[in-house]
Amino acid sequence: MSSYENRAAYLRQTLQEISPEQALHMVRHDDAILLDVRDADEIKDGLPTPAHHLARGQLELRVHHVCDDKQRPIAVMCAGGLRSLFAAESLKNLGYENVYSIRGGYKQWKESALESRIPQQLSAQAKERYARHLLVPEVGEVGQLKLMNSRVLLIGVGGLGSPAALYLAAAGVGTIGIVDADVVESSNLQRQIIHGEDQLGKLKVDSAAAAIGRLNSMIKVKTHPHYLDESNALEILSQYDLVLDGSDNFKTRYLINDACVKLGIPNVHAAVYRFEGYVTTFGSTQDAACYRCIYPELPPPEMAPSCAEAGVLGVLPGVIGVMQAVEALKVLLGIGNNLIGKMLRYDALHNEVSILQLDKADDCLCGQAPEDIHLKPIEAYACAI
Ligand SMILES: [Zn+2]
Repeated sequence: MSSYENRAAYLRQTLQEISPEQALHMVRHDDAILLDVRDADEIKDGLPTPAHHLARGQLELRVHHVCDDKQRPIAVMCAGGLRSLFAAESLKNLGYENVYSIRGGYKQWKESALESRIPQQLSAQAKERYARHLLVPEVGEVGQLKLMNSRVLLIGVGGLGSPAALYLAAAGVGTIGIVDADVVESSNLQRQIIHGEDQLGKLKVDSAAAAIGRLNSMIKVKTHPHYLDESNALEILSQYDLVLDGSDNFKTRYLINDACVKLGIPNVHAAVYRFEGYVTTFGSTQDAACYRCIYPELPPPEMAPSCAEAGVLGVLPGVIGVMQAVEALKVLLGIGNNLIGKMLRYDALHNEVSILQLDKADDCLCGQAPEDIHLKPIEAYACAI
């Protein structure tokens, strides 16, 4: 026997081997992870339905992105049950305590008629385009595919929505929806960088869709040239996974909040005022604060002037809109620390960044059952629920 075969025989004695059926049982009942370590070209024809794919060559480098709990059981699979022994040994050496190798590998999985799926893979064109994302372990091919399958709705394609739309499109978010009923005006061009002089007088949604189309023809843009109100909000928002609120008035913000809470959609919210900007994410988890938790009542107009009344440094919504795009991508990818329950405040004039804690309010609308939340006519969004 070669030293390789000797080593494999030794591993068979020292590691636990399990059948594909046992592995599936552990995934369903013991919160185990099924890790397929075959190469990318080996999984084109099928991958066990519950499996995470992490090629053997990337195993040690990236396994903590799949599982950072060293006690969680991991069942390792390869094509025939040999490479999985070596992969399992390596995981043990990394400190994973409950590691199993699946006997007979994917060949046996198929022979046992267990469920498989054809994995979605990036095209060669997408691999080239998103190459810098693929190098980031927190994104990678799995994350890029997640972005390409994601649907984000931008409410308003003005100061905040313009940069957010461009970066989300560049990042490859598969479907971008835009709600805006306004036309491009000359005074918009100081900050709304998605529009140009040749678009003056045209609908902002059409101007933005054209700019996104020039940037990335691989994604889909859906335009909603309407003012959001109680009659269309649920129908439009329910088509998306995440909302990016770039609206400029309180009534619309309350409406977006209530619709997102009812539908359970994360709402990445921002506001700007002269040199100051705020970003937060109103999440869909039970302990996440919502917009009404912070502003239960509409502030009097003199306390909350709009940009049209108070002015804004043109580049400020650029910074804040890009922060919204970053936050949206992180929420979609499920990575990092997000701004749920927190508000990031940026003061450009004094170079100050601070994070404020947002508490969930008692008796707020966000504590109600979704079926008990009813949108009100937009004119009625002047006060608490
Ligand atoms: Zn609330």
